[in-house]
Formats: sequence, C-alpha cells, structure tokens
Amino acid sequence: MAKVYNIGGAGFDSNIYLILDDVIALVDAGTGMNFGSVRRNLAKFGLKPSDVELVINTHCHFDHAGGDRDFVEAGCEVAIHELEAEPLRRGDRRVTLAEGFNGQLGPIEVSRELREGDCIELGELALEVLHTPGHTAGSICLHERGRGLLFSGDTVFCGGVGRVDLPTGDAAAMLRSLRKLIELEVHRLMPGHGPVAESFADKYIRAAYRLAKDELL
Ligand SMILES: [Zn+2]
Ligand SMILES: [Zn+2]
Repeated sequence: MAKVYNIGGAGFDSNIYLILDDVIALVDAGTGMNFGSVRRNLAKFGLKPSDVELVINTHCHFDHAGGDRDFVEAGCEVAIHELEAEPLRRGDRRVTLAEGFNGQLGPIEVSRELREGDCIELGELALEVLHTPGHTAGSICLHERGRGLLFSGDTVFCGGVGRVDLPTGDAAAMLRSLRKLIELEVHRLMPGHGPVAESFADKYIRAAYRLAKDELL
C-alpha cells in the first residue's frame, strides 16, 4: 500500500514528503543544505537519491527547491507549475529567495511543467494539481482524492497561511485560492512547514481562510 512520510524539515528546509508508490516521488526537496540528513532519511527506507524518480515542487522557493539539484544529478525528474519553471531554469536568486537564504541555486533542469487540473499518476495514488497562487504566482497544492490528502506547500499550514509579501505574492489571489481549497474533501493536511494534520484538515483550511480575510484585506 502506498505510504507518505515527511523526511525533511531540518534547518531551513521545507517539509519533504516521500511518497512510496509504484513511482517513488518527493513533494519538495528542501534547501539542499541538509542533503546528508535527507540521504540518511531515505536510507532508512532502503533508498538512495537515485531511486527517487520525480520531485514535485509546490513552488520555486529555495527552501523547497534548492535540493532539486542533488536529485537531478541522481537522475530524477523535476515537476513544477509552468509559471515557476523559468525561475528555476535560470537560477533566479531573487524570485526563488536563494539570495535571502544565502544559498546556491544554480540552474535547475525542469522536465515537467504543471497546470491546473493535471493529474500525476504515481500508481495507487494520483495527485491532482490545483493552481493556488497567492504565496507565489505559480504555487500549487496537490490533492489525492481517494485518501483525502492535500499537500499544501506554503499556501496553508496547520494554523496559518503563507506570506503574500514576497516576490510574485498576491493577497487577493491567496484568498481566492483558499476559497477553492475549502471546497475540497480533505482529511489529512501535509503543509510545506510545521506539523501535519492527520485529520480535520478542512478545519485548518477554513481557519486559514478566516485568518487571511482578517489579516490580508
Ligand atoms: Zn515559500
Ligand atoms: Zn517555505
């Protein structure tokens, strides 16, 4: 049976979700500054970086995509929303925030550009791409309908919403994105940072929407 584990979160790294299915995939890859720790966590599952076939980035920020390069070098493919493919390909230090993290980004090869409604088939799990701009213009959430699972990147956390004051951020778009997420059947929330909600994800999403309405407008 397909399983999902968080193998990230060290230092400034985002959460890194390891999906063990017919296709072995990651949702986000952290900064790359703690690659040793990511490698050790993979080894606990008997895996090497080269066993990961696909890294799906929720957006292009350095704390989520900086680690892509190590996986690309290991032969893995990278998928990201079409609006955020260019910043990775040209190694844009401002839009990706690599500058702020004082990190090395370098050009990252993107093999798959994602759009609203795309479906990433991993085997038992199928991730539907939801374009949820607001934190960045090309932020996405990934919805697994069968399991009621949502990978929410930096759009929604368990107890908050993502910043909208960074390059390409947009408060009104964030509110529209949160409204869209409220409509989903979601039980488990797997955000880009902080704890995972094993149940009641819909409550966190509604709370995030109310918070955003109060704070952003
Ligand atoms: Zn971010
Ligand atoms: Zn982040």
